[in-house]
Amino acid sequence: MIIARSVSELRKALNAKEGNIGFVPTMGALHIGHRTLIDAARKENETVVVSIFVNPTQFLPGEDLSKYPRKEEADFKICELSGVDVLFYPAVAGMYGEDEVRMCAPDSRGFILEGASRPGHFDGVLTVVMKLFNMVQPTRAYFGKKDAQQLALITQMVENFFMKVEIVPMETVREKDGLALSSRNVYLNGPQRIEALKLSTALKEGTKMVMQGNLNSIEIQSAMTEILRPLDVEYVAIVNRRFQSIAQVVIGDTIVLVAARVGTTRLIDNVWM
Ligand code: AMP
Repeated sequence: MIIARSVSELRKALNAKEGNIGFVPTMGALHIGHRTLIDAARKENETVVVSIFVNPTQFLPGEDLSKYPRKEEADFKICELSGVDVLFYPAVAGMYGEDEVRMCAPDSRGFILEGASRPGHFDGVLTVVMKLFNMVQPTRAYFGKKDAQQLALITQMVENFFMKVEIVPMETVREKDGLALSSRNVYLNGPQRIEALKLSTALKEGTKMVMQGNLNSIEIQSAMTEILRPLDVEYVAIVNRRFQSIAQVVIGDTIVLVAARVGTTRLIDNVWM
């Protein structure tokens, strides 16, 4: 595995490779969720590139940028064992200059849900993903459905800017008890870890109601909100794949999303139905 710490090192490493490039952008503190993306990239491409970059522009002031978990040594090992060809591990100064051109999230989809709770977050995400795509020039890029709105906005950016990369959505990987894997789960202490299960439990209840034939969004949202109590709930939302709110669940075109704080840790989860 080649570790590239600058764009020039990355380009040099990639010039020596042939065939399709599968790319997995991450912020590190890798877990099995990341592993499934890397494994899929490994299966479907000749060359696999993983980036690890805690992107400052997608954190709002007061968010967890400075304490975001960093596990360089373990991450390098995981990448090596997963058959990654090139690990791109840039410094902030190598990614950003001063007063740069930036991407802007779209007015509607970019500023609801995550975009409403974290205004400016998606501008930062789209900016860094645009930079990374231009650096890596991947054939395919792998993203988790866990970050559903991020996935939707990156897919839209690729369409809107006529980019050639294929976006591959990947299922959310969970612990046995249902908790969605997240690098931020390390912030949870024992009791909080149990409280955090309320997110996936609420989503299971929503799914059960739909399976039993109740498609009414308001009724599903209120049953889910009841389960999430007493967590500090930011939203329980039911949208179609275009992220428009819908009054009725439509099987095959619905995403149910939750965001809540457990202590000071902000967690998100969703199911696609
Ligand atoms: P992050 O390092 O949190 O920025 O995530 C990097 C990529 O891994 C994103 O595309 C995430 O959606 C994806 N990801 C994070 N958690 C999971 C999970 N539990 N299952 C599947 N993919 C995930």
